Amino acid sequence: MNDLGLPRTIALRPAERSVLRERGQREVFCGLTSIVWLHRKMQDAFFLVVGSRTCAHLIQSAAGVMIFAEPRFGTAILTDRDLAGLADANAELDRIALALLARRPDIRTLFLVGSCPSEVIKLDLAKAAERLNARLLPNVPSVRVINYSGSGIETTFTQGEDNALKAMVPLLPVTEARQLMVLGCLPDIVEDQFKRVFDKLGVGPVTFFPARRGSELPAVGPKTWVLAAQPFNGETLRALASRGATPLAAPYPFGAEGSLRWFEAAATAGGIGRDHIDSVLTPLVERARTAMARYRARLAGKRVFFMPDSQLEVPLARFLSRELDMALAEVGTPYLDRQMVSADLDLLPTEVAISEGQHLDRQLDRVRAARPDLTVCGLGLANPLEAEGFTTKWSIELVFTPVHGFDQAGDLAELFARPLERKTRLAA
Ligand code: SF4
Repeated sequence: MNDLGLPRTIALRPAERSVLRERGQREVFCGLTSIVWLHRKMQDAFFLVVGSRTCAHLIQSAAGVMIFAEPRFGTAILTDRDLAGLADANAELDRIALALLARRPDIRTLFLVGSCPSEVIKLDLAKAAERLNARLLPNVPSVRVINYSGSGIETTFTQGEDNALKAMVPLLPVTEARQLMVLGCLPDIVEDQFKRVFDKLGVGPVTFFPARRGSELPAVGPKTWVLAAQPFNGETLRALASRGATPLAAPYPFGAEGSLRWFEAAATAGGIGRDHIDSVLTPLVERARTAMARYRARLAGKRVFFMPDSQLEVPLARFLSRELDMALAEVGTPYLDRQMVSADLDLLPTEVAISEGQHLDRQLDRVRAARPDLTVCGLGLANPLEAEGFTTKWSIELVFTPVHGFDQAGDLAELFARPLERKTRLAA
């Protein structure tokens, strides 16, 4: 144990637990949603969805309209003629992509994003990217075209990020240097805070994947340690491992304990001494605990039910149970990637009910039977549950808001306390 009373060891084995697996109707957004935060992060990238008007409406309403800047996402709409195979969708897509790149010289990475309609008509976007790269390379070698799937046929919306990053892995340059790579799209403010903590710890060099510019690809090699900051990038992590990188296991940096163990994992791998780690991290832990204290007083003993949505459920359940003393009625997740969440899974109470996938009606029956104080769920379920008297938290807000690290621990706790406070105020 360290002087904070926390075990120092990090679980490296996949946690063994019994999990209720369900298949049936599910209520999640598709991977196109991840364009909302990916396009904000990669400032020189454009996301061209190849889809229907429905896809265009989804991305437009999720990401909002950019009034003062040229948008960096759009939809090449497949019409009835494309869907019926009456038009050459490949020629049309090439024309649109090349016109876009000619008009927007600021674009360095063009993502062709597949959708349900493009996959149903088997439009081969990998071939399209290959074709466009071959045409562009002689004239504009600084532009790259990459394809990935954002379709609703995938498990859930955060898989869009995993698919986008995995598609970039083959392009990463090789390095033989010893370095740490932080994997997962983080708001710039969090990235800056993390850099400062790594600097103080003496951990470095540190790269972030994705970087702020899609064209600035971090290198990877046999002496690269990868520390995941988001639990939904499992396919990318495995692709990086196949390029020689070594994944580090740690709980995710949510709250004081999660952040402590996450930074500890990096520092320990970097050979930093225990005393120095403690001298840097202990004040940050104490500050985070102070920021969380008022919310713990309100949340302790309250029961929370996670419906499957973002794949953040297991790490957040660990945070709520261990750092805010909440009770877990059920932790549902769309897909339980044990390699990615084993360290958090090991820290959950042994008796907690964990479910993977969704059979919506059965799960709603369990919510009604459990009568939790707070239900964390997707947007589509929040209003119907509120109408039945349940208090809800939109899980997508936890992806859009900066929630990682010591400095955000209080804000993260507040996100869970706010709906309960609103309910108390309405009842008064
Ligand atoms: S990709 Fe599929 S699920 Fe997503 S908006 Fe388009 S049609 Fe709907």
